[in-house]
Amino acid sequence: MKVIDRPSPNFDARTRPIDLIVLHYTGMQDAETALARLTDPAPVAGKYPGPWQSAEVEPDAPLGRVSAHYVVAEDGTVYRLVAEEHRAWHAGASSWDGEGDVNHRAIGIEIVNGGHDFGLPNFPEAQIEALIVLLREIMARWSLTRARVVGHSDVAPERKLDPGEKFPWKKLADSGVSIWPHPSGLDLPDDEYVAHAQQQLAVFGYNVQASGFIDAATRAALMAFQRRFRPHQIDGVLDEETRKLLAGVT
Ligand SMILES: [Zn+2]
Repeated sequence: MKVIDRPSPNFDARTRPIDLIVLHYTGMQDAETALARLTDPAPVAGKYPGPWQSAEVEPDAPLGRVSAHYVVAEDGTVYRLVAEEHRAWHAGASSWDGEGDVNHRAIGIEIVNGGHDFGLPNFPEAQIEALIVLLREIMARWSLTRARVVGHSDVAPERKLDPGEKFPWKKLADSGVSIWPHPSGLDLPDDEYVAHAQQQLAVFGYNVQASGFIDAATRAALMAFQRRFRPHQIDGVLDEETRKLLAGVT
């Protein structure tokens, strides 16, 4: 694995031990644009034109400072931007396992891919192979299990879609660096399915309350779950297949 240092000034101190790895897609035109944005100490709108902002925005309008610990390019080159010991700024408003501000305890990896704004391109094999090697190294370094690898859409389901439904979670699971559900049956009265699913979503890590009805947070979590484990049908509906998959991860 080829690692190139491309230091970003966008970091500060962690207040929590590392116990999570968050995967993203960059969602930009190319690797250089993403690297520029993730290392820019004073980003302005005019420097990063794209479908994510309206044409009316002033070119000198300041953008938020962002970063990640690593960027994985399409050819498998890995860029190191922020030392793992520091807090990088990638997850934003987020929650997992009942705790907010995921950045304090996460290592963030940006995978170069245009994402939903650029037609959901496939992830090249060389890129995924490099990511798997990188994940194995990080997991060994911090004693993290495969269950500690999640997507940005998992920790911020109401705001984020990345790394997206094209991302090969199954391949990561087969390589030992993520989980995959073993669907199992569940026999419950019809009026208990929703509350039970909400409990399972929360046990898995999503920020969902057991309200007993499909509220906005529950629907978003179901869609994030489907995006990851049933990418051919992402509708937020608690159907039988989704229930079985959910029972298979908790
Ligand atoms: Zn992201």
